[in-house]
Amino acid sequence: KAQLFFWLWLGVSCYSYAQEDKLLDTKVQSLLSKMTLEEKVGQMAQITLDVITKGKDRFTSDEPVVLDKAAMDKAFGVYKIGSVLNTANNRARTPEVWYNIISGIQKAARNKLNIPVIYGIDAIHGTTYTAGATMFPQQIGQAASRNKELIKKAAQITAYETRASGIPWNFSPVLDLGPDPRFPRIWETYGEDVHLTTVLGIEAIKGYEGDDNDINNPYHVASCLKHFLGYQIALSGKDRTPAYISEQALREYHLPAFKAAIDAGAHTIMINSGLINSVPVHANYNLLTKLLREELGFKGLVVTDWGDIENLHTRDKIAKSHKEAIMLAINAGIDMSMIAYQYETFCDNLIALVKEGKVKQSRIDEAVARILVLKYKLGLFETPVTHYKNYPKFGSKEFEQAAYQAAAESITLLKNNNNTLPLRKDMKVLVTGPNANSMRTLNGGWTYSWQGEKVEEFASKYNTIVEALKHKIGEHQVVYVPGLSYKMDGKYFEEYADNMQEALEAAKNVDAVVLCLGENSYTETPGNLSDLYLSDLQTEFAQKIAALGKPIILVLNEGRPRIISKIEPAMPAIVQTYLPGNFGGDALADILFGDVNPSGKLPYTYPKYPNSLVNYNHKPSESRSVVEGVYNYDADYNPQYEFGHGLSYTTFKYSNLSLSAVKITENDKLQVSVDVTNTGTREGKEVVDVYLSDLYASITPDKKRLKAFEKISLKAGEVKTVKFTITKEELAFINDNNKKVVEPGEFEIQIGGLKRQFEVE
Ligand code: BGC
Repeated sequence: KAQLFFWLWLGVSCYSYAQEDKLLDTKVQSLLSKMTLEEKVGQMAQITLDVITKGKDRFTSDEPVVLDKAAMDKAFGVYKIGSVLNTANNRARTPEVWYNIISGIQKAARNKLNIPVIYGIDAIHGTTYTAGATMFPQQIGQAASRNKELIKKAAQITAYETRASGIPWNFSPVLDLGPDPRFPRIWETYGEDVHLTTVLGIEAIKGYEGDDNDINNPYHVASCLKHFLGYQIALSGKDRTPAYISEQALREYHLPAFKAAIDAGAHTIMINSGLINSVPVHANYNLLTKLLREELGFKGLVVTDWGDIENLHTRDKIAKSHKEAIMLAINAGIDMSMIAYQYETFCDNLIALVKEGKVKQSRIDEAVARILVLKYKLGLFETPVTHYKNYPKFGSKEFEQAAYQAAAESITLLKNNNNTLPLRKDMKVLVTGPNANSMRTLNGGWTYSWQGEKVEEFASKYNTIVEALKHKIGEHQVVYVPGLSYKMDGKYFEEYADNMQEALEAAKNVDAVVLCLGENSYTETPGNLSDLYLSDLQTEFAQKIAALGKPIILVLNEGRPRIISKIEPAMPAIVQTYLPGNFGGDALADILFGDVNPSGKLPYTYPKYPNSLVNYNHKPSESRSVVEGVYNYDADYNPQYEFGHGLSYTTFKYSNLSLSAVKITENDKLQVSVDVTNTGTREGKEVVDVYLSDLYASITPDKKRLKAFEKISLKAGEVKTVKFTITKEELAFINDNNKKVVEPGEFEIQIGGLKRQFEVE
């Protein structure tokens, strides 16, 4: 009976979806038939807010944003521009100011066809550009929490607060892998693993768009998958520089998260700003049309990254003029151009290209139809701007609690020799380091502004690490001397030794030192780095503190794993906070003093040496275990801490790993179960990871791959049986002909140090 109902329900919903799609299609086609070429091309252009606002200092000033009537008349009246995005340098505004901006734009853009403008923004870890919004840990910290529900909730809250700001389109989540700690945007990713990225990315999309991708709901926003495809693996480790990736690797590692997100119904996608194998992705027909449209069946909107059509001419030298660049990009499959500056150049040239027959009218119609569909689906035709007054939960305690929880579950205990942690509440502590008293470093980039430099001014009501520790154990027990500080004027990696000596003196009179090191905030290219080691000054400071022989807790607050091997042996306890957001200080204080048991797990391999940047899933020849081979490889896999590493104040024991079969055939699924016992004296959360190794394959298999995980909570002494299902699909890999195959042979499952083998026929 239940089955019958299910099929009936499925049939009815498929039918009604099909009807809705048909209706929408008819509406869009009818609108398209009334539009001139100029109006269509205008829809494909996205301009920045500063193009239509007044005032020289509009990037940073406190003055209210004043929309410039003449500029708007030109943009919307003459050029019929269809989309606006936030200027990267804009600072945060209140929901009310946002309402005024967006409704002003919608009013100015009102044309005879009544097509609303779509505003897009980077609400990356919370609603970045709105004062009073709830700030979560950055994606890298969310990945460390491994808590799927929390990640979905963070996205739901972000969607709500973004709509509360009148904005319906969010340039998030990032589905790039972050395999290279040199790259300045690794903190925007879910880390180095494809399975983790895929699973968490889907949670974020469901949070933004709703379980059924109902973006008409005024609490949901359209998500934007970034940055298709193969960003963050530049050979140089620097932003927007060339990558060289085989098709096999693209399909094995970089494509699956995007494919799954497209299957999950995500509405828009943004393109990788860089080159792959010397072809700029923005002009790559094979990736943007053959792969994305024809193979993956993506039906949504494709938007460029910042100024990337212009870049085909000015930076990448594959087009001799702007006009040629536009032709290449639009013909490759771009629907909307995020135009850095000259929208007139884009519009005039595209119109001319169509008239000259160099861009087909059908290509324009297809792109504009997708834009109109999105605007209809978002409900913008009926409600061009949502009103902040309808969002009473904006910045509420309930939302803040979720952000605190996410921070508490992300923080990762990397080392805890001799139970240095938790600290006792009657201890006197010195809190020191450039990250000790900074809301800016806790949040990182994309916080109230692009580079995060405006954080202090918007986040003063939240607790820095020092403030949180003072709240926890009392003002009189906390001594604060910064020792070092960051330069705040845009030189992201410059540091000062203000009062190092004073900090060293203070350390002599306390029971423990909480040493807060890491990085200042940065976003994108300004975060390029020429040395992955923690800075010389911070290293020297740590060494000098260590020489005093006090218990030290090294607190890392950094966007990427800066190498700490020169000081690590001298640090009895190390805690990674990543970029935990506005509640990072409070969550850290609760962990340091034992009120919260840490449960975060590294979403990347923490490297020990700059020439050994090898991921956990490396090939066998990259790891030392092959010394039995022909000769003694001096291989590179010697991380400081492994992917998935993270300690707890309790201990867990794994037992009874069992498989439902030792041999599986065609359509079998493998049932895997394992018992996890909390063998310590306090409650704790554990992430149960399932790794799979293909022992022999036609191309060299990875050492192991994460295939499933579950975060569970166990009381002291409690045992839970955790079950997983491994399908044949999960045994597949991309072979030398770029085909997904499952090859017969032996496989090994590994969970918590236990191993079992099985065979595939
Ligand atoms: C970034 C994107 C971002 C866009 C809009 C670009 O520079 O690469 O991730 O969404 O700017 O702000």
